[in-house]
Amino acid sequence: MSSVEAKLQQVRTRIATACATSQRPVQSVTLLAVTKTFGPQAVRDALAAGQHAFGENYVQEALEKIESLADVREQLEWHLIGPLQSNKTRVVAAHFDWVHTIDRLKLAERLSAQRPEQLPPLQVCLQVNISGEGSKSGVAPEDASALAEAVSALPRLRLRGLMAIPEPAGDFDAQRAPHRALARLLFDLNAAGQVLDTLSMGMSADLEAAIAEGATIVRVGSAIFGDRPRPAAN
Ligand SMILES: *Cc1c(COP(=O)(O)O)cnc(C)c1O
Repeated sequence: MSSVEAKLQQVRTRIATACATSQRPVQSVTLLAVTKTFGPQAVRDALAAGQHAFGENYVQEALEKIESLADVREQLEWHLIGPLQSNKTRVVAAHFDWVHTIDRLKLAERLSAQRPEQLPPLQVCLQVNISGEGSKSGVAPEDASALAEAVSALPRLRLRGLMAIPEPAGDFDAQRAPHRALARLLFDLNAAGQVLDTLSMGMSADLEAAIAEGATIVRVGSAIFGDRPRPAAN
């Protein structure tokens, strides 16, 4: 068994245990393997162990990886989970399946206009700045409703839900609070007429807290691939 396979199994067990604790079906949580800073071989190792959904932060790095994995493209689902600049929307619309980091309408409009015709709609989440000052990216919670309405009207995007990167917190209850706030926001948007099914929240350190609050996608890097050679940019 490769070390990636062994760690992947450990993470799957953590997810299953967290689901059992919350009386949620294990299939209600999708594991997104975050491969930023790791090369294509890490993706191949994880794929061999049955992992199909992968998250990347940096557009240029991701494009190189996606290209070098073209032979297995149909088996992979690529999610952009890092900040997106307007000048990169065209390549992102052409090469990714999901974008989790929509925080302004202009990005969404460009992605919709640039999504190639032969591809299905791009699946997107709004990134919400749920813990306030800490992170610069993300729409403010009070502006999420207006943004959701505008994004869900775009023809080549499918708005699926919300994403957040809460401030790291030590204990379980402190970890749960921002995840609960994001879940509550999703509930409110759905009550107002949206049909959103995705809460992208929870990473290596806090996936149990996120699942307890309703996460449907957990984004896990270091617990699968080990420590990254350099710190993440966000
Ligand atoms: C790097 C990153 C992750 C994974 O973080 P780990 O702590 O390595 O699990 C998840 N989400 C985002 C947005 C990231 O940038």
